[in-house]
Amino acid sequence: MIRSKVVLIKCDSYDEAKVRLAVKRGIDLLGGISCFAKPGEKIVLKPNLLAGDPPEKAVTTHPIVFKAVGEIFKSTGANLFYGDSPGLGKPELIAHLTGIKQIADSLNITLADFQKAVKVSYPDAILAKQLALAKGVVDADGIVSIPKMKTHGFTRITGAVKNQFGCLPGLQKAEFHVKMPDIYDFSKVLVDINNFLKPRLYVMDGILAMEGNGPRGGEPIEMKVLLFSKDPIAMDVVFCKLIDLKPEFVPYMRFGRESCLGTDSYNNIEIKGDDIEGLINKNFKVTRRSPSRFISARSFPPFLKNLITQKPVITYELCINCGSCILQCPVMPKAVNWPERKQNRKPVFNYKQCIRCFCCHEICPEKAITIKTPLLGKFIHPHIPE
Ligand code: SF4
Ligand code: SF4
Repeated sequence: MIRSKVVLIKCDSYDEAKVRLAVKRGIDLLGGISCFAKPGEKIVLKPNLLAGDPPEKAVTTHPIVFKAVGEIFKSTGANLFYGDSPGLGKPELIAHLTGIKQIADSLNITLADFQKAVKVSYPDAILAKQLALAKGVVDADGIVSIPKMKTHGFTRITGAVKNQFGCLPGLQKAEFHVKMPDIYDFSKVLVDINNFLKPRLYVMDGILAMEGNGPRGGEPIEMKVLLFSKDPIAMDVVFCKLIDLKPEFVPYMRFGRESCLGTDSYNNIEIKGDDIEGLINKNFKVTRRSPSRFISARSFPPFLKNLITQKPVITYELCINCGSCILQCPVMPKAVNWPERKQNRKPVFNYKQCIRCFCCHEICPEKAITIKTPLLGKFIHPHIPE
């Protein structure tokens, strides 16, 4: 039985001095920074850079958290790099728009190559025996994952484990969604990526988290916490505890346990640092049920699929016609596209074609796409909240 440590440090703002102290304290409680990097090693810092939003939107890892982690790793004499594969756009531009690039430049942390894919074999994988990973992470001696604490329509939360999906360059991510439309297959791949890359340390930015329609369209909410661990499953279990979500509702948890990535039992986690009780938010807005296998769209006859499964829906009053959802849709022909009649230039869905990957929902900059459950789906799953 795995017994893991998760350090929880209360931190009520992005005040630089406070965050620096909190990061040092968190890493010290896991044995100190010398456990995680040595002089001359090539270490990649992997923040969440989903989209080019400012830090106050809580879409991406806050630059001050990135800075504190960067500074402490600099002190080891390691050669630092950073990067992520954003939903849309070049990594350098997105890093600039989120404020991460400016911090990286000031600390001489170089942008790693997250655009070129390198094929690797992983015979021990649960499912993804072949992976095409970003060159930047394949070339590294070690990875430090710096996820953001957010909700996610597909996996319920996006925290420690999901952060490594960004280690696949853009086209590879789309390919995986098409190859693995089943949420549970997709979850196995997430676990495979983490097991293959084995980040040395995870530091989760939950000072300002995101609830509701995440990972981009939700609302920022103060959770006032930073989490530290070597075990991404345990870290996400503690994230679940903080938002009063059953870990079994997060589809990758059991694959993480079965593949020895980490422990999914709260009782097997040693919490260090500050007391968790005062930080739990039972009203945190998150979908409190398991994803249904019905959303594995291909396994269902289309007519039934469309009557039962959750689907992305556009609120047209909010849509600004940016087309990001269309660019992001991984299937061909596109399952969301411009209508043929040009006078109404708002995207429309072809639900027969849609694999319910919710990439369109993930990338919409205007919160115009929500995930809805049809009436029959609500009847079959009476606990489905809207
Ligand atoms: S991404 Fe959102 S705002 Fe942009 S076209 Fe699609 S629905 Fe409209
Ligand atoms: S329309 Fe949205 S949910 Fe459907 S396949 Fe395209 S990106 Fe995925």
